[in-house]
Amino acid sequence: MDFSSKLLENAVYEMSQLPGIGKRTALRLVLHLLKQPQDQTTRLVSALENLRSEIKFCENCHNISDLPICEICSNPRRDKSLVCVVEDIRDVMAIENTSQYKGLYHVLGGKISPMEGVGPQDLTISSLVGKVKQGEVKELIFALSSTMEGDTTNFYIYKQLEGHEVNTSTIARGIAVGDELEYADEVTLGRSILNRIPFENSLKAN
Ligand SMILES: [Zn+2]
Repeated sequence: MDFSSKLLENAVYEMSQLPGIGKRTALRLVLHLLKQPQDQTTRLVSALENLRSEIKFCENCHNISDLPICEICSNPRRDKSLVCVVEDIRDVMAIENTSQYKGLYHVLGGKISPMEGVGPQDLTISSLVGKVKQGEVKELIFALSSTMEGDTTNFYIYKQLEGHEVNTSTIARGIAVGDELEYADEVTLGRSILNRIPFENSLKAN
């Protein structure tokens, strides 16, 4: 792509670093911004800057939060004895949208994946195990996607918790194996949380 302006070229290059944005789309977006009032670009830039400089991760559940403890964890009406284990914040958003779940979450930050070089130490598993050891958690609900990595991660955590007084369950799936949680529709997902099954049973089924 031949640019008549270095400024334009730089802006297009930075925009094209985003996933799913090729050079052509980047050019279209940048030219669009140029046509809009300067205000719009200023607001976009400061929203992103503020996001990067002020965002926190909840000290309890590792969810993205504006405060050291997120709104879900600090809500007195949530059931602290129930913890739903998810991969990332998109899963928290999907489950919150169902309005069916009143417990807390634990965001792992990914799944164990030897292929991608992700081991247990790269995730927030030890913090989860620590939480269970403190004794307030009565049930862990595994809600990772039903892929091999998801199953491996569930099983790893399950083994880490052997000998501790905690029930483990897994969400009942009305969705095909390999479907990611964030794409499940709200009714199906809500039902699958209510109809969760003991984790041991899901092992026998395999
Ligand atoms: Zn939290």
